[in-house]
Amino acid sequence: MKSKLADLQNHINSLPYSEFKDMVIRYGYNHQINVQDDIDVLNSLDLQKRLEKLKINTKCPKCGSEHVVKNGNRNHIQRFKCKKCENQFTLFTNTIMEKTKWHWSVWVKVMEMTLNNYSLTGMKSVLEKDYGYVGINHKTLFLWRHKIIHAMASMPQPVLSGIVQVDETFIREAQKGSRKLESYIGKDEQREPRYGYNPSKYGVMGAEFATVTTAVDNTGHCVCKVTGLGRLTPDVFTDMFENHLNAPAYICSDGNSVYRDYCKVQNIPHYERPSNFMKILAEHGYVSQSRSDEAIAIKQHQSNEAIQLKLYDKGLIDRLTFNGFLPYAEFKEIKKKNKLNLSRVNQLHGEIKGFIYGNMTNVSTKYLEDYIGYFTFIKNWSVDNGRYPHSKRDAEKILVEILKYQGRYTVTELKAKVLTLPKPSSRYMTLLKTYTKKAQELTKNKYFKFDEEDRVISFDKRTYLLDIPETRIKEACKEFGVKHKRKWVRWAVVSEMLKHPKATEIIIYLINQDKVMKMYKEDIDYLNQQRYKDSLTG
Ligand SMILES: [Zn+2]
Repeated sequence: MKSKLADLQNHINSLPYSEFKDMVIRYGYNHQINVQDDIDVLNSLDLQKRLEKLKINTKCPKCGSEHVVKNGNRNHIQRFKCKKCENQFTLFTNTIMEKTKWHWSVWVKVMEMTLNNYSLTGMKSVLEKDYGYVGINHKTLFLWRHKIIHAMASMPQPVLSGIVQVDETFIREAQKGSRKLESYIGKDEQREPRYGYNPSKYGVMGAEFATVTTAVDNTGHCVCKVTGLGRLTPDVFTDMFENHLNAPAYICSDGNSVYRDYCKVQNIPHYERPSNFMKILAEHGYVSQSRSDEAIAIKQHQSNEAIQLKLYDKGLIDRLTFNGFLPYAEFKEIKKKNKLNLSRVNQLHGEIKGFIYGNMTNVSTKYLEDYIGYFTFIKNWSVDNGRYPHSKRDAEKILVEILKYQGRYTVTELKAKVLTLPKPSSRYMTLLKTYTKKAQELTKNKYFKFDEEDRVISFDKRTYLLDIPETRIKEACKEFGVKHKRKWVRWAVVSEMLKHPKATEIIIYLINQDKVMKMYKEDIDYLNQQRYKDSLTG
């Protein structure tokens, strides 16, 4: 048996699977023997040889000891024993190939099809036609593909340096309550239309949205992590990103105070550009310059510069939040020289949404971490290799990379994977509910929802008021008739405001003024669908 297998193996090692299988079946026919078991054994031996060549499990996978000895074999697979902890293992232990009998070239093909976004039906048909695997079922294929995705998602993310742009993006949970694998598999081909959901009650600050926090540096390398349901908190950001930021020259972000506070604590220069940047500029007369008339363009440029200078001095537009206050000319110089902006991270968010909503079906939060991790791996791989991975060669290269990395990928673990995302506390949810309702009444806008830049993380009014630009405070005092002493002292004015019977109203007034949009896109979409439905039925 052994020499027969060894002989065959030398012949077949480099053959594509279909030819290999043909050959073995013909061999079996000529010798009047059943070869199916032999095919499985040959596949396993071939895989074992490859794992050996890649130096997988040269140490004990349980305790890491190098004192391992051969310990017989079972079904032709070499077994090892650890002298230190007595653990028994094979070269397959803890790899994605554990307990499988697929030929190497089939693994490469499934990886290639995964990278090219094949549907399960598409994969099934290729495996049947080109590889003779008849009757492979969707569930097996789903788990196989998911194991590969999970393995890529588990690869370490890079460490960023230089100028790093950070921001959150939000993915609406698609399948609340329906977490069963079966329902997931069955729906793979018929993607449910994305309308028909009711809009979320509390927007991105509530628990219906998963927050994906992202960072990208000048090289294009990125770190993307699902940081929880609802808002991003300073602790979570620090926990998940600290090890991925290596003394950045600058961090660029929007007005979310999480980033400002992080930079302050870590002593990192911080460029902050609030989301209402363009809105504020436009409100104060900023125009886009004429392209046809040069004389007019020059005048417009001068006027635009004057507007920016004024707004900058009042702290209403973008700024650097470290080392005290910089004069506008100096700030402008630094911003230009270092190209401080948020364009890379905005582009990245577009790609994430396109990937999740376009390629991935049923974005149950349970799988979101794997999909985001997979996206991130492919994105960084593309930066390192100068191309998106599509080819068979790329697929094989990635397969080797994940085998060498050796995460734990057993199907049992995949199935048992539970969601460990931080959820908002019930106290927080009560406050969010109360304040959203109040804000909707006061602003007379029943679509009002708080968002990540509203600085209502803890609903602490004092912190909020101490944080916003002086001009805005003065303006609000005038509007609501809050009296203050001649000499302007921020904390004293803020105390006066908090004592005012309309304190909450003042804060909601301020937040509402900062808003870029009065309505969220999902509310607008929902209303449009209703209108469409009405026109069909009425
Ligand atoms: Zn051990």
